Amino acid sequence: MSQNSPLQISFVESASRTHTLPEATVEVAFVGRSNVGKSSLINAIANQKQLARVSNTPGRTQLINLFSLDEGDGKGTLVDLPGYGYAKAAKSVRNDWPAMIEGYLLERDYLVMVFILVDGEIGPTKLDQQMLDWLRYNEVPHTVVATKHDKVRSSKRATRKKDLAAGCQLDKGDIVWVSSTKGVGVDVLRSLVRSHLLS
Ligand code: GDP
Repeated sequence: MSQNSPLQISFVESASRTHTLPEATVEVAFVGRSNVGKSSLINAIANQKQLARVSNTPGRTQLINLFSLDEGDGKGTLVDLPGYGYAKAAKSVRNDWPAMIEGYLLERDYLVMVFILVDGEIGPTKLDQQMLDWLRYNEVPHTVVATKHDKVRSSKRATRKKDLAAGCQLDKGDIVWVSSTKGVGVDVLRSLVRSHLLS
């Protein structure tokens, strides 16, 4: 299996509570504001059109969706967490981030990396920054992935990359830029996921 080939991912189940989640070996999770491009990215790394949407049918978006990565030489779990910032009245991540997600991020023994998705065109938003602060404060290992690279005009990219990194209090090189639409950075993310789940 080449490092860049699509991840061999299949849907396992949706769960509404962390204590009913199945046991795992090793796990990575994806979080981000609603509409950040999380479903599109999960579909892109698996090269499947409907994988993430299968479980994200209307009314079920607040569930934790589990996918397994099984490539013969190793097994791991990808977890698609509910998007935050969906409630109009939300004042902070703390208010609209269900307790189950905090519990998951703090207590899930198998979790080795959280990919926090930030909209590359507009982010990080205040909610993203609060989420990042929360992850840092709680020492949850995380990597920032900036989505929708194709939506940033090439003449503006250098500045946008600098500003997004600064908004996340990170260096430019710490951020993985992706475009699910154009395939930019998808190979980088695939090999990162593999390095966490299969090594
Ligand atoms: P989710 O709510 O985070 O799962 O986001 P979706 O994957 O459903 O994407 C939200 C919207 O952004 C949809 O209209 C997608 O078509 C669009 N989108 C997602 N990824 C990209 C991308 O890489 N480039 C562009 N131009 N649009 C994207």
